[in-house]
Amino acid sequence: MPNSISNDVLKDQLKKTFGFDQFRGEQEHIIQNTLAGNHSFVLMPTGAGKSLCYQLPAIVMEGTAIVISPLIALMKNQVDQMLAFGINAQFLNSSLTRVEINKVKTEILAGKVKLLYIAPESLNKQDNLSFLKQANISFVAIDEAHCISEWGHDFRPEYRKIKSIIEEVNPKLPIIALTATATPKVQQDIQKTLGLEDAKVFKSSFNRKNLYYEIRSKHEVDKQLIRYIKSHTGKAGIIYCLSRKKVEDVADLLLVNGINALPYHAGLDPQIRINNQEAFLNEEVDVMVATIAFGMGIDKPDVRFVIHYDAPKSLEGYYQETGRAGRDGLDGTCILFFDHDDIEKLDKFNKNKGVSEKENAKILLAEMEDFANLGICRRRQLLHYFGEYLGENCGFCDNCQHPTQSFKAEEEAVWVLKTIQETEGKFTIEHIADILDGTQNQFVESYGHDKLEYFGKGANPFWAKAETDEEDEDEDDEDEEELDDDFDDEEEEKPKTKKKKAKKLKSKKKEEENIIQVSPW
Ligand code: ADP
Ligand code: ZN
Repeated sequence: MPNSISNDVLKDQLKKTFGFDQFRGEQEHIIQNTLAGNHSFVLMPTGAGKSLCYQLPAIVMEGTAIVISPLIALMKNQVDQMLAFGINAQFLNSSLTRVEINKVKTEILAGKVKLLYIAPESLNKQDNLSFLKQANISFVAIDEAHCISEWGHDFRPEYRKIKSIIEEVNPKLPIIALTATATPKVQQDIQKTLGLEDAKVFKSSFNRKNLYYEIRSKHEVDKQLIRYIKSHTGKAGIIYCLSRKKVEDVADLLLVNGINALPYHAGLDPQIRINNQEAFLNEEVDVMVATIAFGMGIDKPDVRFVIHYDAPKSLEGYYQETGRAGRDGLDGTCILFFDHDDIEKLDKFNKNKGVSEKENAKILLAEMEDFANLGICRRRQLLHYFGEYLGENCGFCDNCQHPTQSFKAEEEAVWVLKTIQETEGKFTIEHIADILDGTQNQFVESYGHDKLEYFGKGANPFWAKAETDEEDEDEDDEDEEELDDDFDDEEEEKPKTKKKKAKKLKSKKKEEENIIQVSPW
């Protein structure tokens, strides 16, 4: 039954419960839409204030609102927050004992609970479903709704069953789906899967104006990393790495260099994970070195930098992870250390996926790589990806502040095309690049490509003359070996081969050598 509640009553409740004087952006319209019994689809960036859009109507409506949430930690945070505000909120998940579950259910049936947080897995359980059919439910909120979409970055198959479950509980319930993800592809997928094609869409800009975006080459990445962190001592930051092993290595590296850092990944003992997260939230530690397992729903407003040690799997992921910087509205810096090799490694990890999944993953990676390589305003590119148009360059990204040198490459383009022609279009772009820059490798030689007219022609491009060219071959090698150790957070760690053990010893030794004494900038 639609509830009619005046704007004044809502504003009073906003002040009374949350202590806020004003609604932010579209919050009030969103709340009214739920109160009117309609479906809503809310797209707002992290930190915009999505939670209030379902918390407040839950408080003023009769009955209990169901909030479907993907993570136990996330539910617990929100429940604690609500309880601190004097609102009865509870959760149902695998962390509760049977006695605790019964207590929650009794309170709900007595009409005492305003918000019930539940994971899609628990929602699927038959006894929970039968219970919810008896309870007085006000509406259903689906937080982090992008988890429903294979085009998103946190896909969870159980999310796909939500629609049928809600229909079973009560097909008339208003639904509000919320996400900080905004690619049109993900949006369509969510709406379709939840049957929310007719929902009212509330979309705010995804422009995080206070975030500075910068891409750096991965050359001597450890030195760059330490130098950056040391020049921001005492500031909170997150370093994202692709593998658990890398997380451990980087955390160790930072520690031996006197940086207050802790690791976080799904392979750690749950208690250690919780302790490390708490230490970061409570400012006992400055830097969290983590896989993407860390971050969703973590409300730490003063993160000043987010560094990607490795490339993310999609621009979507990049946006989410960088979005954890500067939630307090003050400036945040987002640095991505990029290397084409990372894209190739990520691509290899998709090889066991199904055909269409593999294709999706490839497209996402290609978009990520384009973003890293293009010399135009990063913010414009990023917003364009989210279907938003930024009229002017932002002035607050690396490409705006340090425009890449542009030059006419007519002659160089001819060399490339001629080489492709001479090799009959049968070779990869990497091979063509090897020919042009005069790389004398086995492959090039075995085809006699070192005899070609343009072999080595691009070896000394004028734009690279200023660069020093000491590649740390050894370091690159190691990177290549270690990814498959534990790339997938949900997978069991594979036994280490002898070779890898030897490598580990070698890297241990290297770690000692790795103590980099750099003075802050
Ligand atoms: P999101 O879920 O969109 O990432 P949150 O719901 O966590 O964002 O809100 C981010 C912050 O903004 C929280 O600290 C919240 O208390 C605050 N906030 C939300 N709405 C308002 C408001 N109307 N006025 C002031 N602060 C608000
Ligand atoms: Zn810019």
